[in-house]
Amino acid sequence: MDKNQVWEAVLKRLSEKISRMEFHTWFKKIHISEISGGSVLLNCPTEMNKNWLENKYYTVILSNIKAILPEIEKLFFKVDLTLADKPSSNPQIFESEKKSPRKLPNRPEVRLADGLESRIIHSKFTLKNFIVGDENQLAHAACTAVAEAGLKEKKKYSPLFIYGGVGLGKTHLLQGTANEIIRRHPNATIIYTTAERFMNDIVKAIKERKGDEFRKKYRRVDALIIDDVQFFEGKEKTQEELFNTFNDLYEFNKQIIFSADRPPSSLVQISDRLRSRMGWGLSVDVQMPGYETRIAIVQAKIKELELFLPADVQEFIAANSRRNLRELENILHKISAELELSQVSPTVQSVGKIFRKLNPEEDLITASETQTGLAKSPDDIITLVSEYFQIPATELLGSSRKQEIVFPRQIAWLLCKDILKMSFDAIGRDFGGKNHTTIIHGIRKVSSLSRKDSATARHIHALKKDLGIKK
Ligand code: ADP
Ligand code: MG
Repeated sequence: MDKNQVWEAVLKRLSEKISRMEFHTWFKKIHISEISGGSVLLNCPTEMNKNWLENKYYTVILSNIKAILPEIEKLFFKVDLTLADKPSSNPQIFESEKKSPRKLPNRPEVRLADGLESRIIHSKFTLKNFIVGDENQLAHAACTAVAEAGLKEKKKYSPLFIYGGVGLGKTHLLQGTANEIIRRHPNATIIYTTAERFMNDIVKAIKERKGDEFRKKYRRVDALIIDDVQFFEGKEKTQEELFNTFNDLYEFNKQIIFSADRPPSSLVQISDRLRSRMGWGLSVDVQMPGYETRIAIVQAKIKELELFLPADVQEFIAANSRRNLRELENILHKISAELELSQVSPTVQSVGKIFRKLNPEEDLITASETQTGLAKSPDDIITLVSEYFQIPATELLGSSRKQEIVFPRQIAWLLCKDILKMSFDAIGRDFGGKNHTTIIHGIRKVSSLSRKDSATARHIHALKKDLGIKK
């Protein structure tokens, strides 16, 4: 075995032990330059790469070399800057990695009337790569149900109306739904468009006296998806066209999907008849994901970007992206660009600087502040819940079964679990010596209630806010 073969065998072993992303980032350009006297010299393309291997991967590399050459006792590393510009000497190993399922399939040809919006559907938006949390679960489930329904099936959710603030995933969901319908029904005709483009199309058609053609195009579809319909406010002529299109599609049992920054009822400058139709089917909102969901989103996005970030940096980004997910993506792209230039591994400090540049007036918080806020002990939670619901703390700790006591008590348990990460046993002990099964049952009850009942969800949200949790 020559040294290249040894390294190839080692890489194969490592590729199974190290995450794909890390493997790609740190091992692609490495090669063995020397094997002698019980040691191996590895060449690295950059100083940073060398440091990472030395500090983080020394043991795992050594043990995997030893598996092939048992006499090896030591590793040495050297920077060879010329490697940076050369292709990997083991392209097959890294190439085959690329075929991993993460790569999205190319979007199948969409059969669309000429000139319509197939171009603006991105294959990168899918329902699968949409990270689901409590805050967007319903919207995602509705989109999935719509995408899974047969084209001829009676439409349960039409129109489907998805609403929520900027950068919370509405476009992702709409395009993901379009992509999924196309995947299941390659012959389906779908129009995805934005309200603005829809209007421009109409204006153009009318100018060119092609109004009939326009109407035919839109009425031939299996699904009509229009993003950001708040744009229609005040545009009366366009609303009228949409109203007519809507009626035809609805009558022929076609799927209609809208998104907006508000629920239909708040779209005040839309005619009553169109507004009421927008609300005929199912309306669901998307909200800003909480910290846990954001961590999952950060992890999914850095995988896509093939970016390696230490866990503390990931947490810091999730903690501080509190307003919208576009901002979160923005930060990751900036980090990725800076990393390419400087080759210095990102730290909480360096990422903090990027945040500050983007939002000079916002205070940055650490990940642990996000999670615990001001609550340091169950007492803090008991005090707050008792003030909030105006019931004595002793009642919270007692065993009254009156609903007006049981409900706040269970909410307090839930907060202890969520925020302080207390065990069920510990919560039981601190709440007057209750059995852990009582606690489990109680927490389950309120948390399932909070998913169905918006008043409960609001109470929990308000309490968390009072505790300074900046989720
Ligand atoms: P909106 O249309 O509501 O303004 P977008 O759909 O454009 O928001 O979302 C902004 C960015 O955040 C997109 O790149 C999208 O992929 C990403 N994003 C939003 N929600 C999620 C999610 N739940 N999982 C993964 N990515 C998300
Ligand atoms: Mg959008």
